[in-house]
Amino acid sequence: MAIYDVIVVGLGTVGSATCMELSRRGISVLGLDACRPPHKMGSHHGESRSIRRAYLEGTVYVPMAQQAWELWRRLEGDTGTRLLTPTGNLTIGPGDAPAVQGFLASARRYDIAHAILTAADVLRRWPQLAMPDNFVAGLEMEAGVVAPEKALIAMLAEAEKSGAVMRFDDRVTGWRDEGNHIRVKSSHGTYEAGRLLLSAGAGTKPLLGPLGKWLAPKRVAVHWVAPSSAQSFDLGSWPVNFWQLPMKGKSGVYHELYALPVTRSNGRVKVAAHNHLEDCDPLRVERTVAPEEVAGIRRFMATYIPSLAIGDIHSDVCLYTMTPDGDFIIGALPGHANVFTTALAGHGFKFAPVLGGIMADMLEDKEPAFDVTRFSPDRFD
Ligand SMILES: Cc1cc2nc3c(=O)[nH]c(=O)nc-3n(C[C@H](O)[C@H](O)[C@H](O)COP(=O)(O)OP(=O)(O)OC[C@H]3O[C@@H](n4cnc5c(N)ncnc54)[C@H](O)[C@@H]3O)c2cc1C
Repeated sequence: MAIYDVIVVGLGTVGSATCMELSRRGISVLGLDACRPPHKMGSHHGESRSIRRAYLEGTVYVPMAQQAWELWRRLEGDTGTRLLTPTGNLTIGPGDAPAVQGFLASARRYDIAHAILTAADVLRRWPQLAMPDNFVAGLEMEAGVVAPEKALIAMLAEAEKSGAVMRFDDRVTGWRDEGNHIRVKSSHGTYEAGRLLLSAGAGTKPLLGPLGKWLAPKRVAVHWVAPSSAQSFDLGSWPVNFWQLPMKGKSGVYHELYALPVTRSNGRVKVAAHNHLEDCDPLRVERTVAPEEVAGIRRFMATYIPSLAIGDIHSDVCLYTMTPDGDFIIGALPGHANVFTTALAGHGFKFAPVLGGIMADMLEDKEPAFDVTRFSPDRFD
């Protein structure tokens, strides 16, 4: 039986990036995936992922976000694939909304070029958006979208080119820590390696043992809206826009919704709610989107992006892997120094090549280039 330096379980966002990085460093790596990425069964499908640096989720992410932009550009150069498109990004809400405050804290702390726009400013530049007068919009121009499927294809091809062995349609069912090596069992066989990375996205929970209790796979509905021909929602002319809307009668509680520009000709605007999530079993998730879910997104659009509200809608389902505090989980499993895991809490795609580097460092016993102690898997105990 071949013994690899590292086995990576899940060849999606984190797994493909880590395989690429490890194999480029000359580490022998076996990657296993239950499907054949990119695919629609996990968290990485849907043509676009927002990438920004004035990170409203916390200043701790900013250095990683800054490097991510550079690494995506480098991967584009390495593979001759266009992955990143600048579009600008708006964070919209009342001035005291946590999203707006988080955006400003990151922008100011790291001196990221930004502007605060009024409703009138926004209407002048993007008449598609109907912002209430008491809202503001934090604008970051050097932000945009990454193409997730193309990115995965590029990273997996780079991994293979550098010698990574990858097996698809091979579901991992368990693993055992034998002290000096790890034994991994899958639907097709048993494999051994010195170290293991569990980066199976929403499929990680059952592979984690006791730590799995902190992961919550969530179903999220995504809506694809046909724009009217009168207004442009095209990539390059329309920014990514994220809305934090106060819930009526509930102080400090918000609806979070966003819209992403059309990414291909005759394509559709992508609109979704970021925090209307449902617990799910990733293997049995309901993939039909209910009329009430579509009606909810139409209500949002009717108020804030009115010309979209009457557009034809197709809907789809994607998965988040939530953590109790909404921050990533990155690191070694308590009690298993050779087994590592990740969970990205619904906002991790933009960081993929950075996370590939961080995980490769950890798997090689090197100090990661970023401080990831806040993301430690044992923080909840
Ligand atoms: C609708 C939606 C919109 C999003 N928007 C953004 C955004 O704008 N910006 C952003 O940065 N992030 C965004 N995200 C979040 C981001 O896409 C995810 O955080 C990221 O893709 C998760 O990566 P992952 O590697 O953990 O999972 P995945 O990319 O899903 O990879 C996991 C892989 O593991 C495999 N697998 C599962 N179980 C097993 C098993 N037992 N054995 C072997 N393989 C297994 C799966 O087949 C899959 O290929 C969004 C997510 C969704 C759903």
